[in-house]
Amino acid sequence: MKCPICDKALSSEPLHGHAVERCSDGHGCWLSEGVLGRLVRQLESTAQAAAPPTNAPSDLPCPSCGSAMSRFNYSHDSGVLLQRCHRCGGVWLLPGQLEQLIRYRDSTPAIRALDAALVEEAARANHWGAARDFPRSRLLSGIVAATYVVFVLSGGGGWPAVVGLAVFLLLPMSCIWFPDALGNLTGVSFGLGRPSITHSTPADFVAIGGWILLLCPLVLALFTGF
Ligand SMILES: [Zn+2]
Ligand SMILES: [Zn+2]
Repeated sequence: MKCPICDKALSSEPLHGHAVERCSDGHGCWLSEGVLGRLVRQLESTAQAAAPPTNAPSDLPCPSCGSAMSRFNYSHDSGVLLQRCHRCGGVWLLPGQLEQLIRYRDSTPAIRALDAALVEEAARANHWGAARDFPRSRLLSGIVAATYVVFVLSGGGGWPAVVGLAVFLLLPMSCIWFPDALGNLTGVSFGLGRPSITHSTPADFVAIGGWILLLCPLVLALFTGF
């Protein structure tokens, strides 16, 4: 079989698991209408940029029998014009046309509505996931704590000051690193006669409280000008 555009011999190649005859110069490929239908139904749409519209040139000869192929609008309203040989039942597919057909399939209203709902839900899940993870960032709180240590040492505070800092950092860092464990501490009495913590605190509040405490020295330093 020869390419209807450049007349070179076509080579058999698999296309997503189906055997097709392809032009090695990239002019397209020859396949049966049945295979094309299966590909259009099965393939996932790719994230690749939209291929430029490449509508079939008219009156290409059929690679199989040589008779003139005719153009047809796939699925009547896809706007993708393919060439088909009525005698052989084969289709000549130009580069990018398969992607256009899959995009057409995905753009039918029912599927588009479902897609939009799924995308929106995924975006919402990501948004809340990121917002929830932020107060629990061990890396970020670790950087803040390390900055304090460096600051105390460079300020000539010496190791006693670092120990004091470590004692101070213990509570906020615990809150940020282990908010679930601390949030589940209930009924803890601080020796004041009645339990101070009587309810399990949501872990997010524990983590945020840890951050407020952790950032206190920074805020104080900013206000007092060190
Ligand atoms: Zn060719
Ligand atoms: Zn033919």
